[in-house]
Amino acid sequence: MERWALLLVLLFTASLVLSVLISRPWPEAEVVVVVDAGHGGHDSGASVAGVREKDLNLALALLVQEKARGKGLRVILTRTTDTYVELVERVRLAERAGAVLYVSIHANYHRDPRVCGVETWVDTNASPESVRLAESLQRAVVWATGAKDRGVRRQTLYLRHTTLPAALVEVGYLSCPAEREKLQDPAYQEKIAEGIILGILSFLRER
Ligand SMILES: [Zn+2]
Repeated sequence: MERWALLLVLLFTASLVLSVLISRPWPEAEVVVVVDAGHGGHDSGASVAGVREKDLNLALALLVQEKARGKGLRVILTRTTDTYVELVERVRLAERAGAVLYVSIHANYHRDPRVCGVETWVDTNASPESVRLAESLQRAVVWATGAKDRGVRRQTLYLRHTTLPAALVEVGYLSCPAEREKLQDPAYQEKIAEGIILGILSFLRER
């Protein structure tokens, strides 16, 4: 083959490879997030009519991990069994794992059984990023479940021990009979998990 012909073939091949590489988006690296199932072990959390908060929190955290696959998120859990992990250790774990945010899952309790709905908590000293994460989670979980929107609230929380964006979702009231029923329903649990993932993703997208 003439040298110029060989050069043409090489150039053509190179341009073909380049065009394929450019047209195909690079697979995005997975973002590490930590999801915490509140309570565990000796600490049952709220317990109403045989429904223990720690069990519900764990079921939801596992569901979030499972449903996040293929969505660009790598979900690391603070616990995968019925064990108690010290609170500050939970956020330390998130920092060591290189997580970009921390979400804790809880279920709520009120003396008054008429109090029902979803709320998301941040620490009283929360950063604007934590507040934005909480607002994103709150919006998405309310949207996914259709539950009453009780808004983002502030309280002194162990979340103050990390600089990561951190929020605590109270997915519903175990003391509210209708909500307690729903919280035990696998289909409703899926809606909550999807809401949490959506909340995380929309927070990350707006960064
Ligand atoms: Zn709790």
